[in-house]
Amino acid sequence: MMRMILVGPPGAGKGTQAARLVERYGFVHLSTGDMLRAATKAGTELGKRAHEFMKDGKLVPDELVIAMTIERIGQDDCKAGFMLDGFPRTLPQAEALDAALDAAGTKLDAVVLIEVPDYKIVGRITGRRSDPVTGKIYHLEFDPPPPGVADRVVLRADDNEEACKQRLKKYHSETAPVIPYYGAKGILRRVDGDTTPDGVARGIAAILGA
Ligand code: ADP
Ligand code: ADP
Repeated sequence: MMRMILVGPPGAGKGTQAARLVERYGFVHLSTGDMLRAATKAGTELGKRAHEFMKDGKLVPDELVIAMTIERIGQDDCKAGFMLDGFPRTLPQAEALDAALDAAGTKLDAVVLIEVPDYKIVGRITGRRSDPVTGKIYHLEFDPPPPGVADRVVLRADDNEEACKQRLKKYHSETAPVIPYYGAKGILRRVDGDTTPDGVARGIAAILGA
């Protein structure tokens, strides 16, 4: 088991690949977006505060996301390893994660960057649908939901064109700096995300060496 991170722009395919990695390697999958949406749905104080930022495609403030994530990776099921998806999204988040792992006497093994060009992103996101029953992610064009599921899939509130453009802007200004940060540590691995989901999965498997 290992400690790894999936990074990439919104819509790069992090969630899609995470689901495959869980199946193949048994990773504990931690999606900060999923955690924040669950908190919003549950109506917790954190959820209410986070929603105000998420609905417009803004980043949730570091102090909230860092506390939530560090608390989560400290739980027993993460002791042997975990796969973070959507965290870190800022340099302070990356530094806080390193400090927490350092204090626990561990460190990250790999950071996998899924690269997709900007012009493909809006189409990926506005076509995204999820099954509220299974949580599975589909795409109206690239991975259409099967009959029986198609009539119940939902569009995420922030998957409109406006919020999506805002998220992409934030990715470049706030998240991109974590790429050279991990590059300097020698743990950054790039994979071409502009191919089929199977192709991306093969790229990641090659990186993880299995
Ligand atoms: P996507 O699937 O488009 O990559 P996510 O589900 O990861 O989006 O995140 C959705 C929203 O949740 C983000 O736009 C942001 O508002 C918030 N969020 C998730 N993770 C973080 C984080 N690490 N830092 C700040 N905000 C976050
Ligand atoms: P992220 O978690 O990075 O925001 P998702 O895994 O949710 O990205 O994927 C965004 C959308 O693009 C989803 O609708 C998904 O079905 C679709 N998708 C994922 N990977 C690919 C791919 N390699 N080619 C085409 N569409 C994809």
